[in-house]
Parts: sequence; structure tokens; C-alpha cells
Amino acid sequence: MGHVVVVGAGIVGLSVCRAALLNGHAVTLLEQGTISNPSAASYDQHRMIRYQYGDAEGYTRMVGDAFDAWDRLWDDLGVRHFSNTGTMGISLAAEDYTARSLSTFRKLGIQHEVLDREAVERTCPQLNLPEGSWGLLAPAGGALFASRIVDDLARWVTARGIENRVHSKAMRVDPARGEVVLEDGAIVSGDLVVVAAGAWLPELLPDYAGIPTFRQAVCYVEPPEEYLDAWCNGPCLTDLGPGDNYAISPTQGTGLKFGSGNHRKRGRPSDGFRAQPSEGHEVIRHFSPFLRQADQYKPVRMQVGYYVMDASGRFRVEAQGRTVVVTNCDGQMFKFGPLIGARVIESFDGKQSAADLNRWAAGY
Ligand SMILES: Cc1cc2nc3c(=O)[nH]c(=O)nc-3n(C[C@H](O)[C@H](O)[C@H](O)COP(=O)(O)OP(=O)(O)OC[C@H]3O[C@@H](n4cnc5c(N)ncnc54)[C@H](O)[C@@H]3O)c2cc1C
Repeated sequence: MGHVVVVGAGIVGLSVCRAALLNGHAVTLLEQGTISNPSAASYDQHRMIRYQYGDAEGYTRMVGDAFDAWDRLWDDLGVRHFSNTGTMGISLAAEDYTARSLSTFRKLGIQHEVLDREAVERTCPQLNLPEGSWGLLAPAGGALFASRIVDDLARWVTARGIENRVHSKAMRVDPARGEVVLEDGAIVSGDLVVVAAGAWLPELLPDYAGIPTFRQAVCYVEPPEEYLDAWCNGPCLTDLGPGDNYAISPTQGTGLKFGSGNHRKRGRPSDGFRAQPSEGHEVIRHFSPFLRQADQYKPVRMQVGYYVMDASGRFRVEAQGRTVVVTNCDGQMFKFGPLIGARVIESFDGKQSAADLNRWAAGY
């Protein structure tokens, strides 16, 4: 049995804690805020899980393993915080992201249905798509209820006896020695230190000081009355126009949420978590060309989060000495959290080399 020290109580850190407990290790969790922390990228009503990953075969394959990892978590928690709405990618041009996802689905045998424009609009009557567009529906996929998951997972690991240190900010890590120095100068050491600090990583580890962090603000939206049922009962949408626009269906007590890559900008958590009143309308504007009664959509609330994203677009799970850093989680990692947690601990237990773990996480 080893001692695993985890920095950060987002989906990654908590999933590492659970995997370590399941494999018989002692765990200390260090979190600078509360557990759960509403400022973490992992904390929101929902996050999407979807197979559509363009031509990234490694990540498409990984989604199947992620579903299995979620099933094991539901068994442990005794509750399934997931609504399988299906996910629909929209293709507007030849060789776009959705078209490349279709090629990947065919190659890997991912279950799907191709819908012409009329069929997409029958399934999603709220949409108003241009001539020649079509849809790629994956029946497996939908909304993971993120904050419910994080809250329950935090309770689960706490009930199983981890040492839970809230308001314990890690100030320095010595990767070779597996030591973490806290604000009061106390040193916490482990056989393995896992740094899952989200967008706060550049402040903590000098080797990552230059890694780019981004602010992403998504908008909860009230749709026109006429299309409420269509949104509630329809699939989550991906790649609805330029900028990777996506919509998460309002399901099981959650709201309809619009997100757009066009609304992402460089930023870091110290910039704060407030949004300007105009931002909701800006997010909705990216969807407007594709919506019926577009002017009837009202912004309800913005949710601001931060994540690390470098140009590679690949997750980075990097070992140095007794330390593993999980980063470059982008707007993508929630769906893979339990899977990544399990793999990090399998590697610690000698079932996979650090180099293989690194390659796998990078989607090769
Ligand atoms: C708006 C938005 C939408 C997204 N949509 C999706 C989606 O639809 N699907 C999907 O799969 N992914 C999505 N993502 C990405 C996903 O949410 C993140 O990749 C994932 O939650 C990252 O988890 P994490 O545990 O690495 O980081 P976080 O959840 O940010 O957790 C990091 C934790 O570390 C703590 N911490 C940091 N520094 C220290 C320190 N020095 N000492 C102690 N504690 C520290 C923080 O307080 C925080 O609690 C989205 C992200 C955002 C922001």
C-alpha cells in the first residue's frame, strides 16, 4: 500500500482519490478552496459526453472506455448522474468536423445514424439549417450532471477515509521527492503526488508557467415556449456552425446551456468568475443563424470557468520523479475524469509505464 497525495478536488483529483482507495492506497487530498469548489472547471450543472471527435481516433475510442468507467462510478455511488439524450453533430460543409467524425465512426464501428436536413429538423424542430447540411446522431452520449457527480464523489471518498484537507493551498511541489509545501510551510509527502490543479497549474509548477489558460463562459438559456419540448426531449447538439457551438439539453432538472468556442478567450482564474450582462446575448448570437425564432431566446445566467489548453489539443499526463501532472484538459476532460483517475493509479501500481500512460492520454 502506498500513500497518494492529490492536489486539486475537481473531477480529475477526486477520480484519482477514488481509484487510489479502490486499489488499497492511503490518500491525502489537498484543495485550496472547499470540497466541492464551485470555481473548479468541473463544477456546473452539466458537461457533455459525446463520441464526435472528428478524425481523432484515439479520443473517439477512449469515449467507449469512458462510458465503462462512468458505469463503475454509478455502481459505487448507487446513482446514475447521466441523461443519455444522444448527441447530434451538424455538418455544414464537406470535410468539416462532423464529416470527419462520420469517417471515424465508420472505421471504428461506432453506432450512429446519418440524417438529412429534413430528418434533422424533424428530430430538432427548433433548428433552421441551410441547404445541404446533415446530422450525425450518436445514440450514446448526453449530459453528465457535473456538480452532482463532484459532490457525490467527494462524499464517497471522504466516507472511505481519505485525509481531506480543505483550504490547503499547495505553494510548491518537489516532483522528485514527492513533496508538497503548503501555505503555512507544512510539508506533505507521498509515494505519489498527483497534481490536478486545473487552470491554477501555471502558478504552482514553474515548468508549466507558460502553458496557456482560457476563460470559457457558457450561457443558460430560456428557449421560446414553442420549442421547449423539442429541447427537453432532443439530443445534445455539437458543432452547430463555426466555433464548435454546442447545446446541452435541459434534462432532469437542469437548464438548456449554450457554449461556443467563439466566446473563449485567454484568461486565468484570478481574472474572476463574473460575466458582463451582454455576454449571454453574444453567446446566443453564435447560434442565431441556425435557430427558429432566434430572437426569442433569452439569456438566464452565465457560468464562467477556466482551463488549460495548448496548441496540441492533447491531454498531458506527465510523470516526473514521484509526481504525475494531469493537464491540458481543455474543454474536454470532464467526460474522461474517472477513466483518467483509474489509469493514473494503474500506472502507479505498475500496470502501465508512465510513457505508455502519456501516449494513451495524448490520444495516440
Ligand atoms: C465552461 C466549460 C465547459 C466545459 N464543457 C465540457 C464538456 O461539455 N464536456 C467535457 O468533457 N468537458 C468540458 N469542460 C472541461 C472540463 O470541465 C475540465 O476539463 C475538467 O473539469 C477539468 O477538471 P480538473 O479536475 O482537471 O480541474 P478543475 O475542475 O478546475 O479542478 C482543479 C481543482 O484544483 C484546485 N487547486 C488548484 N490549485 C491548487 C493548489 N495550489 N492547491 C490546492 N488546490 C488547488 C482548484 O481549487 C480546483 O478545485 C468544460 C470546461 C468549462 C470551463
